Amino acid sequence: MAEQKNISSKSSDIILDRRGLLFVLSSPSGAGKSTLAKKLLLSDDKIGLSVSATTRPPRPGEVDGVDYHFVDVPTFKQMVADGEFLEWAHVFDHRYGTPKAPVEALLASGRDVLFDIDWQGTQQLFQEAGNDIVRVFILPPSIDELARRLRSRGTDSEEVIEGRMARAKSEIGHWDGYDYVLINADVESCFVKVQHILEAERLKRSRQKGLIGFTRELMRD
Ligand code: 5GP
Repeated sequence: MAEQKNISSKSSDIILDRRGLLFVLSSPSGAGKSTLAKKLLLSDDKIGLSVSATTRPPRPGEVDGVDYHFVDVPTFKQMVADGEFLEWAHVFDHRYGTPKAPVEALLASGRDVLFDIDWQGTQQLFQEAGNDIVRVFILPPSIDELARRLRSRGTDSEEVIEGRMARAKSEIGHWDGYDYVLINADVESCFVKVQHILEAERLKRSRQKGLIGFTRELMRD
């Protein structure tokens, strides 16, 4: 993975070289992960989004290249054959994948990378990136609330919603493949927790390669 340089949120921060991290948010759909991801991207310019490719058709309001790269099945298969994905998986009835090049470009530009991917993709990324990955799973406060949120979107048919509910229940079973598990009862307080996790992970000793020189300097007579 590329090294990250000059990380600083305030000009008064001491700047130490740090490895970029891969920050994964997963949840059953409707648990609020997309809202959390958007808030994080707006509030923190040191992290950029990995925009996935998918064969699912766009929902109303979704923009190609922003929410997803919407591609057809032959194009997706070609991308798989060409080794363009860091990971990919079947989710619901469609294919979803993480293009490799933009992730590498984000890390090379000195930023962390945010992933909105499912548990299958998270497992594959973990095999690739090991300690550079931070995995956060978002749970809904209850199954009733999840159903209410999915219906209130107004974008999917009842049949699709029922499929998503069934899928959500099986996705929840993968919560133990994550480093952090949050219950999103209130989006604001859940968001603050996400920010704290990211900040703490950035400060991990193992990620800060500038620490050796810095501490040596501090200890000098
Ligand atoms: P949706 O169709 O609701 O946008 O996403 C459905 C599921 O696919 C979500 O759980 C989302 O996190 C997951 N997903 C989106 N992009 C990717 C990807 O690139 N790889 C994998 N493995 N899952 C993805």
